[in-house]
Amino acid sequence: MPATSTLDALLQELRSRLQTAGIETPGLEARLLLGAATGLDTAQLIAHGTDPATAEQVTRADALCQRRCAGEPIAHILGRRAFWTLDLGVSPACLIPRPETELLVEQALGAIDACGRTHPRVLDLGTGSGAIILALKAERPTIEAVATDRSPDALRQARANADVLGLDVTFLQGAWLAPFKPEDAFDVIVSNPPYIAPGDPHLTRGDLRFEPREALAAPEGGLGDLYTLIDTAPDHLLPGAPLLLEHGFDQAPDVRARMAQAGYQDVQSLRDPAGHERTTIGIRP
Ligand code: GLN
Repeated sequence: MPATSTLDALLQELRSRLQTAGIETPGLEARLLLGAATGLDTAQLIAHGTDPATAEQVTRADALCQRRCAGEPIAHILGRRAFWTLDLGVSPACLIPRPETELLVEQALGAIDACGRTHPRVLDLGTGSGAIILALKAERPTIEAVATDRSPDALRQARANADVLGLDVTFLQGAWLAPFKPEDAFDVIVSNPPYIAPGDPHLTRGDLRFEPREALAAPEGGLGDLYTLIDTAPDHLLPGAPLLLEHGFDQAPDVRARMAQAGYQDVQSLRDPAGHERTTIGIRP
C-alpha cells in the first residue's frame, strides 16, 4: 500500500480499493474500516481528516481492507452488526443478523402486546447471535425471555451480547425445543430458522460463504426446519398463543399450507420492505 499523507487521503484510498473490488457501498465501508483501524468514530474522522496518518494506522487499515476485498463480511471484520436498536457482537459461529428479520421482531412485539399478560413467556428458537430475543427483551423488559440454539459457540456469542446490553435472557443449549419438559409452555414462539435449499447458488456468494452452513441451509429444499418447528411448537404453546416464522421469499404458500394442515388458526403472511412474503404467523391448534 503506497504511503498516504492524511486520514482523508487514506479514507479515499480505501474507498477506491473497495470500489474496485466490487463492494456495493465503498464510501460507508471505508469509513467503518478506517474507524476500526484508528479507533475514531465518524465525527472524529471528519474533525481529524487533515491529521497525518501514522504508519501503524496505515498498516492496520491496509490489513482490514485486504480482508474485505477478499470477500470477508464487514460484520466479521468489525465483529459487530447493527440490528433493530442494538449494536450486536457477531462471529463466524452465528448468522449475521439481517434487516428483513426486523419484520419478525415487529410482529412478535404485536403478539406480546396482544397476549395481555404481565410477564409473557417468549421463546426464540435457533437464536444465533441472540438478535431477535434481545431486541424483544430491550423493547418489552417485562417479558420472560428464553432462547435456544444447538451451537454452543453461537450461544456464547448470544450470552456475551446479553451481558453487554444488560438484558436478562435465559439461553439453553439444544436443537429447537429439545431443552424443554412437556409442561413448559410459552405465550409467543418466534424463529428465524435456516431455510435456504442446500443446492442454492446464493450459498456460494457474498457474506453467506462465511456464515455457518447449518444456520442457512435446511433439508427438503429449505423447508425441513420450518416444517419441524410447525409440527413441534404446538406442544409448547399456550392455548391461543402464536408461532411466528421467518422464511424464504417464495416459501410462504408452503409454510401456510403446513400450518393449516397442522391445525393452526388465523394463518397469515406479511411482506418485508422489499415486498416479499417473509414471515408467517399462526395460532396454536
Ligand atoms: N435471509 C437470509 C438470506 O437469504 C437467510 C437466513 C436464514 O436462512 N434464516 O441470506
